[in-house]
Amino acid sequence: MKIISIIKDNKPSLSFEVFPPKTDTAFASIQAATEEIAELHPAFVSVIYGAGGGTGRYTLDIAKNIKEEHGVPTLAHLTCVSSTKEMVHSKIEAMKAAGIENVMALRGDLTPELAQSDRSTWHYRNAIDLVRELKESGADFCIGGACYPEIHPESHNQQQDIAYLKEKVDAGCDFLTTQMFFDNNLFFNFLYKIREAGITVPVVPGIMPITNANQVARAIQLSGSFMPQRFKSLVDKFGDNPKAMEQAGIAYATDQIIDLYANGIANVHVYSMNKPAVARKIQANLSEIIR
Ligand code: FAD
Repeated sequence: MKIISIIKDNKPSLSFEVFPPKTDTAFASIQAATEEIAELHPAFVSVIYGAGGGTGRYTLDIAKNIKEEHGVPTLAHLTCVSSTKEMVHSKIEAMKAAGIENVMALRGDLTPELAQSDRSTWHYRNAIDLVRELKESGADFCIGGACYPEIHPESHNQQQDIAYLKEKVDAGCDFLTTQMFFDNNLFFNFLYKIREAGITVPVVPGIMPITNANQVARAIQLSGSFMPQRFKSLVDKFGDNPKAMEQAGIAYATDQIIDLYANGIANVHVYSMNKPAVARKIQANLSEIIR
């Protein structure tokens, strides 16, 4: 099933994110966690590519398993930076063969070495190049793209970031998913600005439940997200008590999600990161809303 048809259904729903293993030995335990998440029957599960501890090698295996064994639509992520044309073409062929219908087209993060290297020689410099390649592949993929309510860390100003986003969407993105944010006003302001810039595709907000204090520094480092005082107080107060911190982090994420639904957003994506217990608790908190 195409993700765009789920989003356009316009009913409050949740989707979850999982990451693939790094090694063969970790495959069984990671797959078991992703299956537990699939068994919650979210609107869809997205499977990241080569980030968050996993590797892209297993993205398709996990996505295919969730779709075929659990009947849950999947969104397979794919990055292109530092890839050759041949590498991307073979990934696209493998996705076609695996019956993947939905692809999140990403550039990928620049390692320090990549950031220093001569980009003029790269075949894929930005996600837009991958979006074009997917459109030309002959497969009728539903294509997602990433967007950044607090601007992408490499961008100098939001206007330019949004102008590039518009080009990416025009190249063929059916929908966008946001980077995590902890203050919904930043998301609503962003939505207003991109609509004004002529970007009309659905935008799925991405919410990261912070369930332990160590995650905070990593989340800020990855996303550069603003942490509201309300959130910082919660970490100050409960950060040393793992169970209390998990409960408070889930309550904070739930509160963000309810506010998004209440203000007209239908699908919310949860960065559940292979934590079935967290996904289950958030879903339970919203049981009457997403019924
Ligand atoms: P782009 O859209 O290419 O944007 C990157 C930067 O380049 C921005 O500053 C943008 O303004 C600028 N830019 C865009 N187009 C142009 C252009 N034509 N010319 C010049 N500059 C341009 N990483 C992974 O490794 N694996 C994953 O599975 C993964 N999943 C993600 C899912 C989501 C929802 C999000 C928000 C991020 C994800 N990431 C993932 C991280 C992502 O790869 C990084 O944030 C990366 O730095 C940017 O990727 P992008 O696709 O947004 O790039």
